[in-house]
Amino acid sequence: MNKFGIFMNFWEKNWDADHAKYIKKVSKIGFDVLEFQAQPLLEMSDEKLRGLKALADDEGIELTYSLGLDRAYDVSSPDKKVRDGGVVYLQRIIGQIEKMEGKLLSGVSYAGWGTPDYVLDDKSRLWDNSLESMRKIIKTAEDCGVTYCVEAVNRFETCLINTAAEALEYTARIDSPNIGILLDTYHMNIEENSIPDAIRAVGKKLTSFHTGENNRTAPGRGHLDWDGIFGALSEIGYGGRIISEPFVMMGGEVGRDIHVFRNLLENPTEERIDAEAEYLLNFERGMARKYGL
Ligand code: MN
Repeated sequence: MNKFGIFMNFWEKNWDADHAKYIKKVSKIGFDVLEFQAQPLLEMSDEKLRGLKALADDEGIELTYSLGLDRAYDVSSPDKKVRDGGVVYLQRIIGQIEKMEGKLLSGVSYAGWGTPDYVLDDKSRLWDNSLESMRKIIKTAEDCGVTYCVEAVNRFETCLINTAAEALEYTARIDSPNIGILLDTYHMNIEENSIPDAIRAVGKKLTSFHTGENNRTAPGRGHLDWDGIFGALSEIGYGGRIISEPFVMMGGEVGRDIHVFRNLLENPTEERIDAEAEYLLNFERGMARKYGL
């Protein structure tokens, strides 16, 4: 049975926010999972981490974590010092996730978030640097019981892993049961020739799934082919998490980093966003039922 989740920053313009509030909110709406940026975990005391975990347990919510890795910790960097710092940084994040008994870290977790500002004729060296770093990081993930997912994202956000095929090649070169693949419909819409074919290519290796429209509004509002997407998830027997990741508000760190320069939901008050979250959950559950997931 798939678990349905949502990313916290549907509501918030800054990456860090009141996690406890959103654990309660998404539980009330009917979600199973709340996902948020992992970096704020590094600032939290053990007591705070335990408190959030206890609240999530009470509310029946699983917490999962995502990363847009700060470029200061770019584990694919040509600079060995930056790579080494990045490995330690990511190992610390995994350690915090372990304290929360968390099972999943995903996102742009294999390189600094962003693209090179220099001419890049060949990315094999960046790729090799990232793989070398990942072989160290993944040992920590194994020790901590965390699955470390690489997310294929569009060309404007990374040069390393843009497609399902690249994610498959990368993960095949990391010998660990704790490496995984995350596909995201918003990114696939830009990079793949066919979203259903990309889902089928990853097949049983699909560890987690992000949903969002072509313009990152809530699933069902844009022009993506949700019948094709849920049909393909059904074909591969996907039983994992389906986490929606809409971004609809201009402003703040999120608007800057995600490039949201207009409101994509009219008058996005908290009440309107709550209603939109409820709508998208019903839409996704309905599609999952339609395709026998
Ligand atoms: Mn995503």
